[in-house]
This record gives sequence, C-alpha cells and structure tokens, in this order.
Amino acid sequence: MSHEHLGLFDTPPGGREDRLAVAVVGGLLLILLVVLPASNLPLGEVSAFIPTVCAMMLVGELLIAALLYAQAAVFRSLALTILASGYVLTALFLIPFALTFPGAFSRGGLLGAGANTTAWLMAFRRGADPLSVILYVWLKQTDRAPRKAQRPAPALLCISSAAALALALTLFATVGHDLLPPIFANRSDAIYAHLFVFNILNIALVAIALGMLLSRRASVLDTWLGVSLAAALIQSLLNLPLHGRFSLGWYALFLVMLLSHLVVLLALIAEANRLYVRLALSTEARRRERSAQLISIDGVAAAISHEIGQPLAAVSLSANAALNSLAHPRPDPERAIKSIRDTLDATRRAFAVARSVRATFSKRAESVSKFDINDLVRDSASLLEREMAAERVSLRLALTQPLPPILANRIQIQQVFVNLLLNAIESLAATDGRARRIVIRSVTPDRQTVQVEISDSGLGIAPERATQIFEPFFTTKPSGTGLGLSLSRNFVEAHGGRLWASQAEDGGAIFHVELPSS
Ligand code: ADP
Repeated sequence: MSHEHLGLFDTPPGGREDRLAVAVVGGLLLILLVVLPASNLPLGEVSAFIPTVCAMMLVGELLIAALLYAQAAVFRSLALTILASGYVLTALFLIPFALTFPGAFSRGGLLGAGANTTAWLMAFRRGADPLSVILYVWLKQTDRAPRKAQRPAPALLCISSAAALALALTLFATVGHDLLPPIFANRSDAIYAHLFVFNILNIALVAIALGMLLSRRASVLDTWLGVSLAAALIQSLLNLPLHGRFSLGWYALFLVMLLSHLVVLLALIAEANRLYVRLALSTEARRRERSAQLISIDGVAAAISHEIGQPLAAVSLSANAALNSLAHPRPDPERAIKSIRDTLDATRRAFAVARSVRATFSKRAESVSKFDINDLVRDSASLLEREMAAERVSLRLALTQPLPPILANRIQIQQVFVNLLLNAIESLAATDGRARRIVIRSVTPDRQTVQVEISDSGLGIAPERATQIFEPFFTTKPSGTGLGLSLSRNFVEAHGGRLWASQAEDGGAIFHVELPSS
C-alpha cells in the first residue's frame, strides 16, 4: 500500500517542486544582478513604504507559523514547532521595527527609539531566521522516533517564549540602545565598516543553515526553506554595497524579503489545499466502496435465494407429485418414480448452485476444467425438461460439431445457460397464441472463440432495455430479483468472454454467450 503523505513535511523532495524552487531562486538572483550595479542610486523616502511592507510580512509570517504549527500537531514534531516559533519571533520583530523606524510613524521613531534601534531589530530578525532553521534541522533527527511514543510538541510554551524573546530584545534595542555598537550614524547613513561586519557574519550564519538544510533535505518543506534561506543570502549580498537607506538596493532588499516569505506561504497553502482535496476524494472513495460493499452483500444474499430457491421449489413440487401418486387410492408407482427422479434432478441442481456460489466467492482455480460446450448445453437443457414441458415449450438444438473445447468453471457456465433458459421459458409463458420455441445454436466464428446463442419466440427485449437488463436488480417480473443476467454476465466476463442480448427477427430475444476456447 502506498504511504499517504500528510503534508509538506513528509512529502519527499523532487520533481515539480524542485524545478519551481530553482526558478524562484533564479528570479531572485536576477533581481540581485539588475540592482547590484546601481545599489546606491537614491530613490527618495516613501514614508508609507515601511509600515505597508511590514504589515504584509507580519500577516504572511504569522500565517506561515499557523500552518507550520498545524503540521507540527499532526506529526507531533518538536522540530516543526521550533521552526514555526522562529516565524512568530521574526514576525513579532516587525512590529517594533515599523514603530521605531525613523519617519514611518514619527520623525525619530516611536518607543523612544535611537538612531540604531531599527538596525538592531532588523539584525535580530535576520539572525533569528537561520538560527531557527539550524535548530529545526538538528531537532528533525530526534523526530524520527515513532510518532505515538512522542509527547505533543509544546506549542503554547514555544509561542510565549518567542514573544518573551521578542520583547526582551526590543527592550535591549530601545532602552538599552547605547549598550549596542552603532550601525547607523544618523537616520539615513550607515557606518559602513560596522554594517559590513554584520553582513559578513549574517552571510556565514545563513550559509551554515543552508548547508545543513540541503545536506539533510528530506521533504518539500525543506526545499522551500532552502529557497527562503537563499533569499536571505541574496538580501545580505544586496546589503553589502549599501551605504544608507532609501536607495534602489535598500528597496530591493525589502522586496526580496517579502517575496521569499510569500513563496513559502504559497507553498504551504497549496499543500494544505492539496491535502484537503486528497482527503475529500478519499472520503468519497471510501463512502462509495462501502455502499458498493453493501450492494454486493445484498446481491449475494438475494442471488443465493434466487438461484437456490428455484430448484428447491422444483424439489417440493416433484416430491408432492410423488406423494400424491402413492397416496392415491389407486397408486401409480411409475408416475411416482418419475417424480422422485425429478426431485433428485432438482436436488442435484440445488447442490450445483450451492457449489457454484462457493466457487465464485472462494475464487478457487481448481474448479476450472476443460470440456465440450455442446455437452454442457445438452446437460443444462435436460435439467429444465420439466419446466419446458409444463409450459409447452419446444426445444431445438443446432450444435456445430466438433467445437474446440473450452477451459472454464463448468458449474458457473451451466448456471449461465440455466438462467438464460429459465428466462426464455418465463418469457414464453407470458405469450399467448404464439409458437413457444427455444433454439440453442453453437458456433465457432474463429478457432479462438465459441459462441452459444439461445433464442426464444417470446416477448423480446425493447432496444432501449438491451443494456439495462444486465444491471443488478433490474426486473420486469413481479417476483423477479433482477440478478440472473447480471450474475451471468459476471460469470462469463470472469472467463474472458462476453454476454449480450439482441432482438430475434420474429420478435423474440436472443442471448449470445461468447467464450474463449482453451
Ligand atoms: P429476473 O429474471 O429476476 O427478472 P434477470 O436479470 O434474469 O432477472 O432478467 C432481467 C430482466 O431482463 C427480466 O426481468 C426481463 O424483463 C428481461 N429478460 C431477460 N431474459 C429475457 C428474455 N428471454 N426475453 C425477454 N425479456 C427478458
């Protein structure tokens, strides 16, 4: 049985996602190449830019965290919980970052911001990203233990720790502003040497995280995390030549940041959707399977009562006739003997049916034998002599001799012929003033197949019903079960053959049984 994947976390990487990931990284590299030569081109300050971008990233990253927490709960994975909490932390940094950004909400920034508050908040944020991936890759190893044995990952504890850490580092960057080394000289110009050192350290950290992730890449989620780390590298490279804010490179930096998280978010949403569709389909398939099972159980029960009921009725009729012949004041032993023979014949038929039902459901190969279909036609017809005589039906056999033998379950094929003959007799019984005639023909159209045609001069089958009559439970008879033809077709098709009906020229029905010769 194929393993059902529950999400990005346990879907192995490769194929479509890999190609898409390479395309996304290619696109980001293109942005880098285009922007890099003109990085310091001043574009002017757009005061709504930071609040807008931060709000978008905040929502996106919290959504990523929510989707990852959901997967973590399914897999009881501490690694995923830590990764999700990493996203909570980076998202939370965005709030003080936007509030303290000089010129966004107030000229100098809110929360008592200093010249370097935003720079340090961004530095914490950019450090938290690779660090949470490193922790995730490291913890993933321990997640491999059997799922049931693990306790659920402590999501609430991790969320509150992330919030507490964000608060502490925000206080550090605002109240403890002067304890941190400066990155900016004023609200737009950086101290290049400090910024350079910071960028190199960040590149090293991201490279370690990326290396660890790719060397142990085990899922589609890992692929998309790789894309977001590659984007972080590109951000640092964009940052390297920057001397201040509000230049082309600086705006491009935020664009790359936004895009890289958007990609992970879209991948997670697409996967959640795919999972939902898969779940809906499998629920529907299971529902259909169950109702099919119910129909088949119903069908088996009805089939047994239909197929065995008929010979048992004949047993009771013949036994009664024998009893009457003997209990009569002038007993007629000859009639009694004939009736007892009929009783025995019907009993044999009931046994044969019971064996056939068993053979059908046990699917035993040993019940297959090689035989001449003409012999079987004669045997089947003789089993129904009484019924035909009772309805004054004449039978003509037009059998081609010799026919190639067939390899089949004799009892099942006999069942088919008996069913078709009984149907023909019942159809003839319902006609008045017409000759009641059944003709059985056997032919071999080519040496690979044999065909038996059972035609009657009865009511015939309306063309629009020619396929409907083979459906289970379709019947036009007051006490019919509508199972004879559907079971017969099943038997014939199980032997690689075909069973179909057509209209005879004189208005009756013809049933064609085609079987492969052995
Ligand atoms: P049942 O005999 O219990 O109705 P079947 O599956 O054997 O179930 O047959 C389904 C229906 O096909 C019958 O009710 C009848 O309407 C039609 N049918 C079958 N055989 C003949 C026939 N030889 N001539 C006319 N109609 C037939």
